[in-house]
Amino acid sequence: MSNPLQLTRRRTLLASTLGTLAALGLPFGSPVRTALAGDLPIDHAPSADYIGYVLIPRYFPETRHNVNGAILDYFRANGEVEAFGYPLTEEFWEPAGDGANGPNGRMVQYFQRARLEYDPDTKIVRRGPLGELLGKRQPAVEPLPGLRYYPETGHNLGGAFLQFFEAAGGLDALGYPISEEVSENGHVVQWFQNARLEWWPENAAGAQVQLGLIGTEYLRASLREVPIEALRPAQPLEPLREWVLPPSPPPPARPVPPQHIPILYYHQVPSQGPLREQIRAFKEAGRTFLSLGRAVQALRGEASLPERPLVLTFDDSWASQIANAAPVLQAEGIQATFFVITRFLGTMPGYMTWDQVRALKEMGHEVESHTQNHADVVDLLKKDRGAAIAEIWESLSILEDRLGRSQRLFAYPNGTWNDEAAALVARVYRAAATTGGGDLQSQSRLYALRRIKAEPSYPPEMLLKQMAGA
Ligand SMILES: [Zn+2]
Repeated sequence: MSNPLQLTRRRTLLASTLGTLAALGLPFGSPVRTALAGDLPIDHAPSADYIGYVLIPRYFPETRHNVNGAILDYFRANGEVEAFGYPLTEEFWEPAGDGANGPNGRMVQYFQRARLEYDPDTKIVRRGPLGELLGKRQPAVEPLPGLRYYPETGHNLGGAFLQFFEAAGGLDALGYPISEEVSENGHVVQWFQNARLEWWPENAAGAQVQLGLIGTEYLRASLREVPIEALRPAQPLEPLREWVLPPSPPPPARPVPPQHIPILYYHQVPSQGPLREQIRAFKEAGRTFLSLGRAVQALRGEASLPERPLVLTFDDSWASQIANAAPVLQAEGIQATFFVITRFLGTMPGYMTWDQVRALKEMGHEVESHTQNHADVVDLLKKDRGAAIAEIWESLSILEDRLGRSQRLFAYPNGTWNDEAAALVARVYRAAATTGGGDLQSQSRLYALRRIKAEPSYPPEMLLKQMAGA
């Protein structure tokens, strides 16, 4: 529907809008009204399923503003720039209180042809009633023959305006007509609660009815209602990752004092013999094997712990683990825990496939998360928080999607963790393992369980020495 005439007009009006801002000499930085993105409620309902998604805001270099979130969805679904024009502000938060808003306030963004409003209570985006706000409602008139009459406001609608009205979404989008066809600035126009339709006879057929630039006009008249930071030209927003997450794991069922639970971690298992000998030596030393998931249940006060417990874990999803560790564990009747790198499975030579880790799970082992790409999450948090969150949460989502419910355990790649990483892990996992530090485990370190490094080639006595009471 674009034509040069219209574009020129748009540019002119836009330039005059920006010119208005400058001409008004609004003191930049003066606190007209502040709105922080952090004020926004997080409204994702907890779900049994994980859904991670990337939200990519759209940036308009034409006016140097972003369109984002629910408003972007509405913008896309209802005609984009043709229907709304370019954004004139960033979205901003309007707190409750002036009567027009819902009880919790609303998100607002101005476009050339509309003001879009998002109500967090109803999750509905709609055009704001700029026609009403601009005072364009005229007294009711009698129905005219051949036109559609709206008794609600007492106005008629017909011809090309009616056709356009229907195509543009009707009452839901534009509201009721609040005037008859009138002449304004040399154009025949008709006002609606949320819009102004204009007749441009010189335009090509199909483009003769236009939505008026009433967002621009209203904004120009009410700049002081808009926070200055929303008016300022903006940089493109970074893509956001958003998540639907399951309920957080519960806190420990009851206090449990710190326990000596040695957790060994292996990598490659080049052959079966040495691992078998280690396991037999551990058994002779009176050790009782249990999976990490069981040990975590005990630490959380949900289950009892056997005497002289010992946990075996296998990191990094090496193919040698299914080839050599799995048969030994099977023969010795041991349940172990495998921390896998989801993006390596089936894609990198030397690593297991999804079928192989599924087979481990069917043998009774636990298959748990070691991130998507073996990311050092502490390092990644500094560079790209969204990517770090994806490594931590999405790996579990993918594991459970492919293999069904897990124990929700996490192992930090390289054992690297800090409080920020642990907090993200704790949002969805029941426990997490790091490396080093011996074998004393406690509820205060559920998200930094200590582990002892093991290789099948290590003498069993050496490993036993690192286990308290061995
Ligand atoms: Zn690793």
